[in-house]
Amino acid sequence: MLHHIAIVGSGPSGLFCADALLRQRPDLKIDVFDRLPTPYGLIRCGVAPDHQGTKAVTRQFDRLFGGGSLRFIGNVTVGTDLPLARVAEHYDAIVLALGAHADRPLGIPGENLPGRYGSMAFVGWYNGHPDFHALDPLLDRSGVAVIGMGNVAVDIVRVLGKTPAEMATSDICSHAAAKISGAPLTDLYMIGRRGPVEASFTSAELAELGRLDRVRPVVNRTDLPDAIPSGLDPADARVKEKNLQILHEFASRSDDKPVRLHFLFHTVPEAVLGNGRVEGLKLKGQDAPLTVGTVISAIGYRTATIGDLPPADERGVIANTDGLVAPGLYVVGWAKRGPSGTIPTNRTEAKSVADRILADFADDTAPAKSGNAALDAWLRQQGLVAIDWAGWKRIEAAEIAAARQGSPREKLILWEDLRRIGATP
Ligand SMILES: Cc1cc2nc3c(=O)[nH]c(=O)nc-3n(C[C@H](O)[C@H](O)[C@H](O)COP(=O)(O)OP(=O)(O)OC[C@H]3O[C@@H](n4cnc5c(N)ncnc54)[C@H](O)[C@@H]3O)c2cc1C
Repeated sequence: MLHHIAIVGSGPSGLFCADALLRQRPDLKIDVFDRLPTPYGLIRCGVAPDHQGTKAVTRQFDRLFGGGSLRFIGNVTVGTDLPLARVAEHYDAIVLALGAHADRPLGIPGENLPGRYGSMAFVGWYNGHPDFHALDPLLDRSGVAVIGMGNVAVDIVRVLGKTPAEMATSDICSHAAAKISGAPLTDLYMIGRRGPVEASFTSAELAELGRLDRVRPVVNRTDLPDAIPSGLDPADARVKEKNLQILHEFASRSDDKPVRLHFLFHTVPEAVLGNGRVEGLKLKGQDAPLTVGTVISAIGYRTATIGDLPPADERGVIANTDGLVAPGLYVVGWAKRGPSGTIPTNRTEAKSVADRILADFADDTAPAKSGNAALDAWLRQQGLVAIDWAGWKRIEAAEIAAARQGSPREKLILWEDLRRIGATP
């Protein structure tokens, strides 16, 4: 009988799945585990700090946790701290909502030089992910190259390009805001292997780059076709058409601003250059390298296999059939389909996996398992300090109290602070 469900990962896919399950079966008891002491996955640590509207979806999740059927168990890594086999002893069904948190390597010489960062680490640094607070990236030269032409690359150049006044209402961490505003930036490069039609950024994000106080987009008119090719899916065609229109408008600009944002299409990086640190980027077919002191790759993510969790492929996908991994074990979100799609994509998909779980258990007559009570005792015996919803609320209150004027919060960035405040009533 389906009564106790464990969800591993408190990002949007895990929480949308909990929502869809509880809407249909309010009697269920669901525990959401996360390795971080804080909930919301990439909504907190990925989504750009100046896009607070996007993060507002967390209010919906907060209401869910207030309902009494959903528990948060943070600071517990399932697979290592808490083996999956032990979770399976206590819960009737388990949903893996792990995301994909390792940067894909570039696979070119020089990528390990100081000054080259993956976007998960770089974004995590300015967004207060406790794994990356000490990244302290090199931002001491005038040029920065961002490899990738998706929305993550757009986020990074925008956050680097905005002035402190433009970031005032964001929740960018103060250490990152200070470093970025002190950086002597004059030239940002966005580099894509393919052309403007294939670029995966969306129109609203692209257009925003044209409205920044100190940044001028630089687009070479000869890179732009006059029209998009025929035969594209109509919804896709609308986005590409709009993108092309925006890029044509960028190409026509001649205004003078202190930071130039160069769009380099059909450009393949061959090597990160430098003696002891990043000093340049060699591009295929070009003799003169780009002079940059920082290279950030935003080319996708993968997952390391954790303890006794099922292995993931190179895109972080755990083998599944429409969300089913094995009897009683399911997967949602990036861990189900790979690292693509927006927050709403996870909502639709998590609902379908929730429906599948309820259908799979519809005729199940086995007695329900014990759920969290026995597991809590085991966690305590192991000396693991689980952080519950009240603990997260203490962290949140401390962050709001420390906020600089205009900003919603100053995130706690140290594991020890998060654990101390989260665990001490
Ligand atoms: C930089 C960036 C910016 C983005 N911006 C936007 C945006 O503006 N708008 C938008 O719609 N989408 C955006 N996205 C996409 C969106 O964030 C993802 O679609 C979404 O977060 C994926 O949800 P998820 O639940 O699968 O994974 P995640 O959000 O990554 O959540 C996974 C959770 O699982 C936890 N976890 C992992 N392993 C374990 C374990 N072993 N035990 C316990 N817990 C574990 C993690 O700590 C994490 O909290 C962005 C993505 C990135 C990377």
